[in-house]
Amino acid sequence: MTGHVNSYYAASANPHAPWPRLEEGLTCDVCVVGGGYTGLSSALHLAERGYKVVLLEASRIGFGASGRNGGQIVNSFSRDIDTIERNCPPAQAKLLGSMLFEGGEIIRERIERYRIQCDHRVGGVFAADTERQLHELKAQQARWQRWGNDRLELLDREGIRRVVQSDRYVGGLLDLSGGHLHPLNLALGEAEAIRSLGGLIFEQSPVTELVPGEVVTVKSERGSVRARFVVVAGNAYLGNLVPELAAKSMPCGTQVLTTEVLGEARARELLPQNYCVEDCNYLLDYYRTSADHRLIYGGGVVYGARDPADIARLIMPKLLKTFPQLAGVRVEYSWTGNFLLTLSRLPQFGRIGSNIYYMQGYSGHGVTCTHLAGRLLAEALAGQAERFDAFANLPHYPFPGGRLLRVPLTAMGAVWYSLRDRLGI
Ligand SMILES: Cc1cc2nc3c(=O)[nH]c(=O)nc-3n(C[C@H](O)[C@H](O)[C@H](O)COP(=O)(O)OP(=O)(O)OC[C@H]3O[C@@H](n4cnc5c(N)ncnc54)[C@H](O)[C@@H]3O)c2cc1C
Repeated sequence: MTGHVNSYYAASANPHAPWPRLEEGLTCDVCVVGGGYTGLSSALHLAERGYKVVLLEASRIGFGASGRNGGQIVNSFSRDIDTIERNCPPAQAKLLGSMLFEGGEIIRERIERYRIQCDHRVGGVFAADTERQLHELKAQQARWQRWGNDRLELLDREGIRRVVQSDRYVGGLLDLSGGHLHPLNLALGEAEAIRSLGGLIFEQSPVTELVPGEVVTVKSERGSVRARFVVVAGNAYLGNLVPELAAKSMPCGTQVLTTEVLGEARARELLPQNYCVEDCNYLLDYYRTSADHRLIYGGGVVYGARDPADIARLIMPKLLKTFPQLAGVRVEYSWTGNFLLTLSRLPQFGRIGSNIYYMQGYSGHGVTCTHLAGRLLAEALAGQAERFDAFANLPHYPFPGGRLLRVPLTAMGAVWYSLRDRLGI
């Protein structure tokens, strides 16, 4: 039996009973493999459309990145629309541009419709360490406004000091259609919503084999599911279940820590409006305060997803660079989680044969895009695949160096990008 990692989120999760283990043979319309946001959003959109859905999770709901992340509702995709416009035909870019802010809307709609208690707060800030980054944020503001986001405000040095009490930044971009939440409680609330619509969820039920066919057989350790369609949503935790998916992506670890309770006054001194913040560096820092007034601070990347031994030693220097006033603060929780990187940093959606679908590789920014992925998957199965295919047709490449050398080569690339960030070039 495996359980949630020992995180602040697991410790502050809403009460939730475990779901049963699959120990029988079932038949359904769609079997979903993986109980993170990709799988949950797919199952929920499908259940809302009346499909008979079974979701199989290897461990617990929200065991993966979805229950461990920074909780930041970041709009757009891990690469922004300008990259897409440069690399895709105009009609495809237009369709993708029209979806830039939809994932966040879906999350807010879910929270409201299903009354999910997940400490949702409005407002996210992109913080610039350098003038070059601020210049790029200005361009991002113009791009996002062009695609309909009128909730943006560019912040100069004084402006960002009003929202982040740190001397580090030269400015930033505030997005009032972003925000933050308790990520595990969102996942648990979505699982409850699926149940309320008749969907079946099983935990501790790792899928060991997919037997393709007109009806796919999904084999788990003690049971199986026969389904017309399968959704593979294991992302960085999928392992080698579907070798062609493993070949074109790379699991990476990123680490998060949570301080002791600071108290409301001290928390508001750091982040007066309670916005979440991420910086603009290639290896970025992301942070916010929790509902019980702790600082939750994440950053860094471990390529190849090894678990670092001492997370506080990795993250504390970053935290103290941003907030030197917290010197001596106690760390109460620290954990690592894996996201799935693609070479283009654009998500990978597609089909294997005609009835096995996959969505993965959000490259570090997946809270919103996973929710969009679920809606597009449900549309595709209902016969409206245009929007799903706008993602499925994005170009993708294997990592140079194959499975052996992809980790050192990508780490070398990251060293170059972070040097560029530090030098401000
Ligand atoms: C530490 C961290 C911080 C992050 N912060 C942010 C953030 O602030 N904002 C943001 O936008 N993004 C963030 N991300 C990225 C975001 O969390 C992910 O992109 C997103 O949660 C991916 O969701 P998912 O459902 O695709 O994958 P996951 O949440 O990883 O879920 C996959 C699930 O599939 C299950 N599974 C795998 N294989 C099998 C199998 N064979 N059988 C059954 N089940 C299986 C796993 O157990 C797991 O529960 C962060 C990621 C990490 C790791």
